[in-house]
Amino acid sequence: MQLNCVAGVTLMRSEDTLPYRKITGRLLKWWRKNKREFPWRCTSDPYRVFVAAVLLRRTNAYKVNLIYTDFLRKYPNIASLARAKASELADFLKPLGLYNIRARELKEIATQILRKYGGRIPADPSELMKIKGVGMYIASAVACFAYGKPVPVVDAVVARVVSRVAGLKNKYSGISPVVLSIVEEFVKCGSAREINLALMDLAALICLPKNPRCGECPLHEFCKSAIMQHK
Ligand code: SF4
Repeated sequence: MQLNCVAGVTLMRSEDTLPYRKITGRLLKWWRKNKREFPWRCTSDPYRVFVAAVLLRRTNAYKVNLIYTDFLRKYPNIASLARAKASELADFLKPLGLYNIRARELKEIATQILRKYGGRIPADPSELMKIKGVGMYIASAVACFAYGKPVPVVDAVVARVVSRVAGLKNKYSGISPVVLSIVEEFVKCGSAREINLALMDLAALICLPKNPRCGECPLHEFCKSAIMQHK
């Protein structure tokens, strides 16, 4: 048995206990028949991907879809977003909730990208994360979906699925180093873009927060949480 030290905690290596290739194979087969379609998934334009990533934080994708296209029409690039009036932006973002905070964040991030990078959104996640207001989720979403980098894109809902599949105890679940390392192994198995999107869709359609639909889940056979429940 190999051991690995993550965030100062000694753990059994997840690589030794999860059949990554089989899991991603099943996941992708399911996803190709069940994927959700959204306009931000039909583009690799960094600005469009960036806007979607910011709006999708803490928000249901169907709600974001209600305003996304109109938002891009009104604010078609970083410069227009940086110059936008915060009050107008907030009005636009009202259907999503937290609109004052989001408006301030979007304007601030756009202003920094304009000043530091001449309006070009950096491809390197660590560079992007130097910008105040840009966390790991936004940086990795832009790196993967706009620039095609094979990085894990993990938000709270993806972390939920991965924690269940790997049977992680609470202290290792959430967006933890363990969860990130598992998704990193997943994305090494094939198209990072497809695997990241498939995990998001599985979380939204099958691995629901309260009543996961394990009987319909393509990962049922491998999922430690489901296996434990049937013991
Ligand atoms: S088997 Fe159940 S708990 Fe496991 S990933 Fe699928 S839906 Fe989630």
